[in-house]
Amino acid sequence: MRALLIGRFQPFHNGHLMVIKEIIGQGIGVVVGIGSAQYNHTPDNPFTAEERTLMIERSLELEGVDDYMIVNIPDIHNYPIWVAHVESLVPPFDMVYTKSSLTKRLFTEAGREIIEPYLYDREKYSGTEVRRRLIAGEDWQELVPEGTRQVIEEIDGVSRLGSMKEKEG
Ligand code: ATP
Ligand code: MG
Repeated sequence: MRALLIGRFQPFHNGHLMVIKEIIGQGIGVVVGIGSAQYNHTPDNPFTAEERTLMIERSLELEGVDDYMIVNIPDIHNYPIWVAHVESLVPPFDMVYTKSSLTKRLFTEAGREIIEPYLYDREKYSGTEVRRRLIAGEDWQELVPEGTRQVIEEIDGVSRLGSMKEKEG
């Protein structure tokens, strides 16, 4: 069995890691679909798809997780054909893990099984909160796995987020 987990992973945080480990723990393989893959260097999408891939690969390697693959899913801004677009990019899958109401609706209409993962400590573990802390100079490291921390430090992600704040005035 294979599950599809779609997110933007801006960046990959501990909530994402926990849900992947929960799925793998049930003997189900995971396809990680990186949404909005073509966007980067914006406040909502600061990291490139390649940087996000690196964060996920390194974090999962450190956790000993190997039954997964990563696929980039660019936005096409056309909801009626979005599920077909996703299906054309990813290997066959049996269910979709998502909390997004739009993703749920579109896959349900396409006859797909949806599983809503438990959201771990959502106040802390959200991409929005990690980006906020990166900009505010607060402790973002505690919210992300070691692999993500390494990649953000290597690419100097803190100053990238900081420069976006300045641009926005
Ligand atoms: P953002 O705040 O940027 O929207 P996010 O934390 O919601 O980031 P996404 O990249 O949008 O993360 O990915 C969303 C998917 O990741 C959700 O549909 C859900 O399946 C999973 N997810 C996100 N946060 C958690 C969490 N704390 N616990 C479990 N799963 C999570
Ligand atoms: Mg989200």
